[in-house]
Amino acid sequence: MNYRSYTLSNFRQIPQIAQLSKEEQFTIEVIGTVLPFKVSNYIVDELIDWNNFAKDPFFILNFPQKGMLSEEHFQKIAKLLKSTTDKATIKKAVDEIRLQLNPNPAGQESNVPELNGVRLNGIQHKYRETMLFFPSQGQTCHAYCTFCFRWPQFALNSFKFAMKEADLMIEYLKVHPEITDVLFTGGDPAVMKTKFFEHYFNAILDADLDHIRTIRIGTKALSYWPYRFTTDDDAEDLMKLFRKVADRGISISLMAHFNHPRAMETEAVKQAIKNLQAAGVQIRSQSPLLKNINNDPDLWSKMWREQVNLGIIPYYMFMARNTGAQDYFAVTLEEAWKTYQKAIQKVSGVCRTVRGPSMSCAPGKVQVLGIQKIHGEKVFMLNFLQGRNPDWVGRPFFAKYNPKAIWIDDLEPAFGEEEFFFENANLKLHVV
Ligand SMILES: *Cc1c(COP(=O)(O)O)cnc(C)c1O
Ligand code: SF4
Repeated sequence: MNYRSYTLSNFRQIPQIAQLSKEEQFTIEVIGTVLPFKVSNYIVDELIDWNNFAKDPFFILNFPQKGMLSEEHFQKIAKLLKSTTDKATIKKAVDEIRLQLNPNPAGQESNVPELNGVRLNGIQHKYRETMLFFPSQGQTCHAYCTFCFRWPQFALNSFKFAMKEADLMIEYLKVHPEITDVLFTGGDPAVMKTKFFEHYFNAILDADLDHIRTIRIGTKALSYWPYRFTTDDDAEDLMKLFRKVADRGISISLMAHFNHPRAMETEAVKQAIKNLQAAGVQIRSQSPLLKNINNDPDLWSKMWREQVNLGIIPYYMFMARNTGAQDYFAVTLEEAWKTYQKAIQKVSGVCRTVRGPSMSCAPGKVQVLGIQKIHGEKVFMLNFLQGRNPDWVGRPFFAKYNPKAIWIDDLEPAFGEEEFFFENANLKLHVV
């Protein structure tokens, strides 16, 4: 199959779109003007169940839905689109709304390090062992998720993280021997041609750095374009490159992103998984918990079970990030914990490698361990799975129970404490 994508400008060419009412099509146009919209032919033809599109998880995952913007914002853009074609007027209104949607959650700019006084705007280094690298050729995706927190990467130029200089990355790695993992991320690095993967990976191999033990690739291609690993014209070369890395004794991990068990059912994805594994790649999977998509414990236990049977290691369950269309997708911390707790008890230990529900917030990855009553006070028990300060990892702490809380910002310390132990800590990098 040849890759094809549809965006705001051509989505009406999707044959199945004729089933949508004119109003539903206009909704896509309004929301798609503010939040980025792109879908691949694989999703359209092999994942979405068009007989039931309005409730279909893959349709909701990619096509803008009413409710992803507030009524006020929606009406503002709808009115404009009906009354003007002046691009500058529309852009001004769109930019205003975008800036109100928390385009830069979790203070990501404070993860960007410096080298010899120069800001490395294609690197984030928040957790001691792992450096994120944003290759400039990988800063788009085969399709865009309607919940994505990286949406400003596609919609707002001033919020782009990207770098194409392998040399700078290597220089940074050389002076940071504490880094064991280089994680390629985006966007989706798997949109890159193999020749770019070769450029970056060979630079790492040639530098011969003993402390680099794992290369990871954060990608959604198994869900959105599995042919990247099967029939694309440079797929075979990519597998050879992965094999070369693995043979050098560097573990290579694909951090896959599956939101729904059905994404693992097509022939194309099964073949892609086999090819990757044959090339020595370990596949791990992570996903946020999303209202309207996968807020169901049975779905998660089924997903983890099937992943293990496909040789995939369940890794993280995330809370929906506090950005973009969060209101449409967010479940409360309480509900998320209940979903996790119900799901995890239905699978055996081999599936229980998954940790969550976890919030990726400024201080770290914070897991909701549960709700308990301690000396008469109902509290959330929380735990750092990752910390900006490594010493926070594995430290449980307590917050007042709040049935409405959907994010760490909604929490206050329990037991009359003034602040959480990590507050007021310097949120700058632990490395200087
Ligand atoms: C999640 C994340 C990582 C990777 O964390 P692991 O727990 O090692 O998978 C690295 N950097 C940032 C900024 C992250 O959010
Ligand atoms: S594939 Fe990843 S980066 Fe791309 S839109 Fe989806 S969640 Fe965002």
